Amino acid sequence: MTQRYVRIKTNREQIYYGVLKANRSVLVYDAPPWLNGQETDMVLESDTYQLLAPCVPSKIVAVGKNYLKHAVEMGTPVPNEPLLFLKPPTTIVADTQSIIYPLQSQQVDYEGELALIIGDRCSKVNPEQAAKSIWGYTIANDVTARDLQRKDNQWTRAKGFDTFCPLGPWIVREVSVEATIQTFINDDHAPRQSAVISDMVFNPDFLVSYISQIMTLLPGDVVLTGTPEGVGSIKPGDSVRVEIEGIGSLLNQVA
Ligand code: MG
Repeated sequence: MTQRYVRIKTNREQIYYGVLKANRSVLVYDAPPWLNGQETDMVLESDTYQLLAPCVPSKIVAVGKNYLKHAVEMGTPVPNEPLLFLKPPTTIVADTQSIIYPLQSQQVDYEGELALIIGDRCSKVNPEQAAKSIWGYTIANDVTARDLQRKDNQWTRAKGFDTFCPLGPWIVREVSVEATIQTFINDDHAPRQSAVISDMVFNPDFLVSYISQIMTLLPGDVVLTGTPEGVGSIKPGDSVRVEIEGIGSLLNQVA
């Protein structure tokens, strides 16, 4: 089985990085694995911890309109270079935690996305160097208050509410470019979003290189690679599940 790298909090409130085993026990590491964390001899059983979001980024750099059909559904052209925005790290919630519907919005949308986890400090790297700086991959939901995004000239408010970045449940080292990304609402069998990773306009190596020309990326930082077509609204009581083949699924309820 692919190694699943997790971050956990024990029943005694201690936080560790580690590897999730098939029986749900966690082999604890002494530091984040992208900072050369090594295995310890500590193993925690499944009833002694909860999963946290798998990293603690200094920033979340997100890319808008990186799938052609999504740009079309938004009524806009694909930008000829990546369109970047930031989400504050306080948007992050773990798998199974709630997305809180803000009072200021009447239209909150899901956006299922592939998230890149940066392993090395990188500044002004080329795409080949960028490829080596991508330590792993996880799943994200770039939750967006669509009405506020339209109303404001920039996206800080629409993208920045607490709980607007479900992330996880774990990190894997590899993902196939042919992997599918799908988003499901409640118990629907038909996905609302369904695409393959290779439908991206700008690929992960290019994105990381491009971002690094502007700002230094630090170990543990997160890059959201954009959402495919099929975005739609969620309301309190809904659950939203983003699945990426070879990684797993990220499930959150709206409260
Ligand atoms: Mg997005």
